[in-house]
Amino acid sequence: MEHETQIRLGAKRHPEKQKNPDSYSAKKPDWLRVRVSNNSEFLATQKIVRDKKLVTVCEEAACPNIGECWAKKHATFMILGSICTRACAFCNVATGKPFAPDPFEAYRVADSVAQMGLEHVVITSVDRDDLADGGAEAFVAVITAIKAKSPHSTVEILTPDFRDKHGAIERVAAAKPDVFNHNMETVPRLYPHIRPGARYFTSLELLHRVKKIDGNIFTKSGMMVGLGESKQEVMQVMDDLRAAQVDFITIGQYLQPTPKHAPIDRFVTPDEFKELEKIAYGKGFLMVACTPLTRSSHHAGDDFKKLQQARQMLKGVS
Ligand code: SF4
Repeated sequence: MEHETQIRLGAKRHPEKQKNPDSYSAKKPDWLRVRVSNNSEFLATQKIVRDKKLVTVCEEAACPNIGECWAKKHATFMILGSICTRACAFCNVATGKPFAPDPFEAYRVADSVAQMGLEHVVITSVDRDDLADGGAEAFVAVITAIKAKSPHSTVEILTPDFRDKHGAIERVAAAKPDVFNHNMETVPRLYPHIRPGARYFTSLELLHRVKKIDGNIFTKSGMMVGLGESKQEVMQVMDDLRAAQVDFITIGQYLQPTPKHAPIDRFVTPDEFKELEKIAYGKGFLMVACTPLTRSSHHAGDDFKKLQQARQMLKGVS
């Protein structure tokens, strides 16, 4: 854990980005300002995370919603360590050579879920291109452990693309997560710059394959706006996701984690988000979360209930 400890002690998290020139984004508009919380529920969540030595994307990604989410006992657990094998231009997670997976991690996560009494849990991971299965077995282990320990909890996973490794998606889908999320992140034109290690159509195909394997699993995907994409391009991503039968889309404002990361092109206004939400519903998504502060896992539990209701309503009319 030496490297991870160094990262936590303030060593450079992004050595691969040191060559990037500093670029400063404009000051945040009012609608992106959030209150910092450290009430007792927030501190209780923090204590469980620390005691169980868990990694959360809430902290690693410097998520602006951490005050609100942790105060509601909602955290997104990140498995397979805190060091990612890729270096996406938007992401605050540290890049480097990761450590071998911890065989007890799934049980620690499952224990925490039980201890926190979570109804709906979100699990994500760093990219593990170094592993033969891309990290698929770790997802299977954590889904299985949570379902065994907390049979009434529902499980949402937010996965990498597993570098399209043979059988990875099939194995994870067979573990029956309730929601399978994989983010497109941005429009295809910006992939070489923003998400250089990934391929747009590989991500789309992953989502489509999950639906074909098990139509009962809700599929979900998210993207950031404010990176230089046009409205037309966002609408094309929506169409592509609907063609892949994706149920739920999330869209939020990109925020630059450090001056070495991709700069913000612009702040999309709340009214523009409302319009995108309307367009997305018009294209047939069961659920749309589209606000400046929307993140993949923000309000995930409440949104899961709405997804279930929307599916029931759809069945009722068909
Ligand atoms: S939105 Fe997701 S990542 Fe951000 S604090 Fe909430 S649970 Fe964590």
